[in-house]
Amino acid sequence: MNNEATGRSLDFVRSAVAADTETKRFDGRVHTRFPPEPNGYLHIGHAKSICLNFGLATESGSLCNLRFDDTNPTKEETEYVENIMEDIRWLGFDWEDRLYFASDYFDRLYAFAIELIKADKAYVDSLSAEEIRKYRGTLMEPGRMSPYCNRSIEENLSLFEGMRAGEFPRGAHVLRARIDMASGNLNLRDPVMYRILHETHHRTGDKWCIYPTYDFAHGQSDSIEKITHSICTLEFEDHRPLYDWFLDELGIYHPQQIEFARLSLTYTIMSKRKFVQLVEEKHVDGWDDPRMPTLSGLRRRGFTPESIRTFCDRIGVSKKDSVVEFQLLEHCLREDLNRRAQRVMAVLHPLRVVIENYPEGESEELDAINNPEKPEAGTRKVPFSRVLYIEQDDFQEDPPKKFFRLAPGREVRLRYAYFLTCTGVVKDPQTREVVELRCTYDPATKGGDAPDGRKVKATLHWVSAAHAVDAEIRLYDNLFTRENPDETEEGEDYRSNLNPKSLETLSSAKLEPSLSTAAPGCRYQFERIGYFCVDSRDSSEGSLVFNRTVSLRDSWAKIQRSSK
Ligand code: ATP
Ligand code: MG
Repeated sequence: MNNEATGRSLDFVRSAVAADTETKRFDGRVHTRFPPEPNGYLHIGHAKSICLNFGLATESGSLCNLRFDDTNPTKEETEYVENIMEDIRWLGFDWEDRLYFASDYFDRLYAFAIELIKADKAYVDSLSAEEIRKYRGTLMEPGRMSPYCNRSIEENLSLFEGMRAGEFPRGAHVLRARIDMASGNLNLRDPVMYRILHETHHRTGDKWCIYPTYDFAHGQSDSIEKITHSICTLEFEDHRPLYDWFLDELGIYHPQQIEFARLSLTYTIMSKRKFVQLVEEKHVDGWDDPRMPTLSGLRRRGFTPESIRTFCDRIGVSKKDSVVEFQLLEHCLREDLNRRAQRVMAVLHPLRVVIENYPEGESEELDAINNPEKPEAGTRKVPFSRVLYIEQDDFQEDPPKKFFRLAPGREVRLRYAYFLTCTGVVKDPQTREVVELRCTYDPATKGGDAPDGRKVKATLHWVSAAHAVDAEIRLYDNLFTRENPDETEEGEDYRSNLNPKSLETLSSAKLEPSLSTAAPGCRYQFERIGYFCVDSRDSSEGSLVFNRTVSLRDSWAKIQRSSK
């Protein structure tokens, strides 16, 4: 089946949804939901699910709900709820007035549980958690019935009401579904539906001291919201029979669960539990550290929502687990930034250049193109004067064969400006380091071409010293050194693969003056270097901080070429 708008073939989820629409299952409706648990910030893996659920709704002119799956009061916080909403909006999706919380359904879920007890499909068990685990058996060995499984309906009702009323301590009892202790699917071996937790919930406060499990809450919440397709990741495939069982036994509206492969990325972890650890142990500077694969981290790093959506579109949706190259994400980002980012000149490791034949105390303004990909972005003025900065590594005193940039006696082009020839080198008398270049320029080459047709082999970026603005530059690299951070020596964990060089801070960068008013979050291409973004937390006028979003070198394109 093809997508009418794009002409591309549909992935298996979209095909299944289209087939249901065709046969008028669910009256031809499509209604999805994105169900985050508010126990951490969203990451790039969640973006895949968001793009699928909200994307499907957008494509088929139907609806997608945002539902917080807040059934576990111990790890959930309002801070997470707010950040999750901000991230989804930033990605470009809108749940309109359809914001729900599983906790809104606690009364109804409780009533469903009572119904199942009355039908003798659920019972109160008083085994400890440890005993329940032992009784459950293994894949090789059937489970054993709990000695409490034959309590009368009346006793079960009264105990469950007692659980709700707070009469028992944590762990004294649980409510379990009566299904099949011998099932080949462990999820069907009388799964727990409710447990006692004397905890304050972020929304319901102390109203409840029993909380439903994910399995009991999820399908029923989908049903209450009249979801048509409940799309989740593959690890829930074995839960589907249970999802179906609850809905069938309760005889209520029954959505279709569909599972797809979760996103894994090289050099990245995708687990909220580990993120919490990285944040709490201060390996990173918070959830939105630009090295984190969280949406807030990627945003602070300078990623655009469009690039993330394109990435999710390119990786597609399948039923087979795989690991996607981090470089593909960067490739999508570069493509997008190439289109939209304003070009500017910035020198990260400055080397002073004095143009001896340029008059002292004078300066001029040269025209620079803002974005060659977008002529309507126009031009800007860049000041030029006698003393400039260029990159240290654009000069070599004793250049090797293939080095075409500046060297003693050699002529190069200064971007948007003039030809420049190096006539002398000033060194620190102690360290013998090159600290300044003496040069001349050719006034006839203004704009970058020589009237006599002579050629140069390199064009350098530069910044006028008298006009430059200072900035701190943060160069980010992968947070982990291994493609699979979980691959470790015995006795170690993913933290042993943290990259000690994932952040390098430069404090003496010189930027062209147009950047003096760069606002937090603004993205630029520093010509010949990479894409950079004004840090949204630490940057301010007069004390600029830029994050390197991604370098210009596209290693994905290289991978593509070499695999052909
Ligand atoms: P974590 O394991 O990091 O805690 P989670 O799956 O528990 O993640 P939820 O908040 O429950 O996080 O996830 C909300 C939705 O996002 C679920 O439908 C889940 O299947 C989906 N999701 C989570 N991680 C990924 C991923 N890596 N790729 C695709 N979808 C994901
Ligand atoms: Mg989850």
